[in-house]
Amino acid sequence: MPAHEAPPAAVGFDLAAFSTDDPASPWVVVNKARPVTPNGYEPADLVYPDVPNINHQPMRQETATALVAMFAAGKAEANLDFSVLSAYRSFSSQRRIYNADIAAHGLAYADAYTARPGRSEHQTGFAVDIGAVPAACSLAACFGDTPQGRWLAANAWRFGFLLRYPADKVAVTGYAAEPWHFRYIGLRLATRLHAVGVTTLEEFFGLPGGE
Ligand SMILES: [Zn+2]
Repeated sequence: MPAHEAPPAAVGFDLAAFSTDDPASPWVVVNKARPVTPNGYEPADLVYPDVPNINHQPMRQETATALVAMFAAGKAEANLDFSVLSAYRSFSSQRRIYNADIAAHGLAYADAYTARPGRSEHQTGFAVDIGAVPAACSLAACFGDTPQGRWLAANAWRFGFLLRYPADKVAVTGYAAEPWHFRYIGLRLATRLHAVGVTTLEEFFGLPGGE
């Protein structure tokens, strides 16, 4: 763990229970300032959960188990249906997406919306972009106003997920709001963040993010 003092919200919480550096750890903090190390990392236990999966991308087993439970709860509690739009992306597929984004929209846009290769949470297998079924506002800001987007924002923590890029934390995370992007961090950490009202990993662990 970094040799800094625990932020107030983390006092009494075992910050060393999992690594924030190891890409295989559910607490890993990956952002523009903290690349996946080693940069060619590939998760060992990628699976395809039995849910609608638009781009057929796998995710870590732990992520999948929690995601299936979350989708089932959304259906049972609010009669909502969800799909996976994207999940695990390798270093090389992230590079293709980033370069295509630059070609289509320019560098500034690409850096606001798409992680540079080696700096995407999607490479860890813990990040999932979630959509509504039937499709509505896929990968768009208005997803946050759909019933699915609202339900996920309110309930994802119960399943160990974090709404990773909140609209009011762009300077902290380095990313524009992405109401569709959820990051598996495990129940212990998600419950703590919810309880103390901290909405970013950067603030909770006292780590850099936005540039
Ligand atoms: Zn994403």
